[in-house]
Amino acid sequence: MRADLIIVGAGMVGSALALALQHSGLQILLLDGGPLSVKPFDQSAAFEPRVSALSAASQRILERLGAWDGIAARRTSPYGEMQVWDGSGTGQVHFSAASVHAEVLGHIVENRVVQDGLLDALYEADLGLLPGARLEQLRRSGDDWLLTLTDGRELRAPLVIAADGANSAVRRLAGCATREWDYLHHAIVTSVRCSKPHQQTAWQRFTDDGPLAFLPLAKADDAEHWCSIVWSTTPAEAERLMALDDAAFCHELGKAFEWRLGEVLESDPRHCIPLRQRHAKRYVEPGLALIGDAAHTIHPLAGQGVNLGFLDAAVLAEVLLHALERGENLADIKVLGRFERRRMPHNLAMMAAMEGFERLFQADPLPLRWLRNSGLNLVDGANEAKALFVRQALGLSGDLPELARL
Ligand SMILES: Cc1cc2nc3c(=O)[nH]c(=O)nc-3n(C[C@H](O)[C@H](O)[C@H](O)COP(=O)(O)OP(=O)(O)OC[C@H]3O[C@@H](n4cnc5c(N)ncnc54)[C@H](O)[C@@H]3O)c2cc1C
Repeated sequence: MRADLIIVGAGMVGSALALALQHSGLQILLLDGGPLSVKPFDQSAAFEPRVSALSAASQRILERLGAWDGIAARRTSPYGEMQVWDGSGTGQVHFSAASVHAEVLGHIVENRVVQDGLLDALYEADLGLLPGARLEQLRRSGDDWLLTLTDGRELRAPLVIAADGANSAVRRLAGCATREWDYLHHAIVTSVRCSKPHQQTAWQRFTDDGPLAFLPLAKADDAEHWCSIVWSTTPAEAERLMALDDAAFCHELGKAFEWRLGEVLESDPRHCIPLRQRHAKRYVEPGLALIGDAAHTIHPLAGQGVNLGFLDAAVLAEVLLHALERGENLADIKVLGRFERRRMPHNLAMMAAMEGFERLFQADPLPLRWLRNSGLNLVDGANEAKALFVRQALGLSGDLPELARL
């Protein structure tokens, strides 16, 4: 089978790209190793362990791709405030949507819900979806790439987009180099019920071992008591916490969170994810582009991973659509390079900022502790600087693709 463009990976980012190109007239194949089936949604069901804090820019992209209504009809949790504080000092910062006259800072949404909203839109758009199609081999064949699937099927196209996640097979098979390093951190993720309501606030405490986030969740039969937690800590501590029974885990979690939301009353099953930062040295080569986690994975402390991925997808679609209008060859490195030039500096800046934060909060020497505490308090008192930060986080400023603009 031959197509103009093959997107490998129909996760959140690959699906968004396919939708953004649906009216391009290109023959597109979107393949994924998974079943790509949409499950009926039950509002009172337990939460999926993986959630994302979607920015306003991501929401706008999803609205324009026709996926947001399906997401909102399932389950989303808006938050208007963010509280960040240093567990071993006195520093704290409070961000609010009201400070920039916005209604919300973002929405916490289960990844499954985002994915299903996108799949609804994809099935409606009747794009070339190939479920159960796992890529095994990739090689050049004339001007095309030849893709071989695990079941032996062969596909070809002059342009391949890698949207196949952090362990991208495309990136590996095409020999794209990456810079990567271990954070020496594991993240424990689960959903918990607290005795106090979360007040539609995203909470983050920096502990000596790493950041601990409580993100507000909304459930039909509950008054703001469920939160998704991301607890980043050393591998040894993560192993100890994973081995605890539920009651002991809930107690340790409440204590680590300084009981800000009261007792932790119950916890869903826990998952432990090793954290690794990875960044492809190049996002493009002739006939190939990397987007989303295939291009970069970032510490979840800022909840930015998929937001960066949606911006990658929107910018790449914009670049390809403009090139089509001008009759250019989409596989040309000159065309694809425009995407890399717009996205790489932004992604690198975000990754560097997270890396800096991460190191600052891990630092033990007293001057650094003092610096971060007074720094946090300084930021908290600087309303203009805070508003700037909130605007950036909301996707209200910066080099935004058309799909993400107000
Ligand atoms: C603990 C944790 C918390 C996080 N919290 C947030 C947050 O709050 N906000 C946020 O923005 N981000 C967050 N992230 C990051 C976010 O989850 C990722 O950035 C996002 O899932 C990446 O989406 P993607 O579509 O690029 O890749 P993926 O979601 O990994 O999708 C890749 C797709 O490719 C398919 N695939 C893989 N290999 C093949 C193959 N060989 N052949 C065919 N198909 C293949 C897979 O089946 C999958 O569907 C978090 C990450 C972690 C680890």
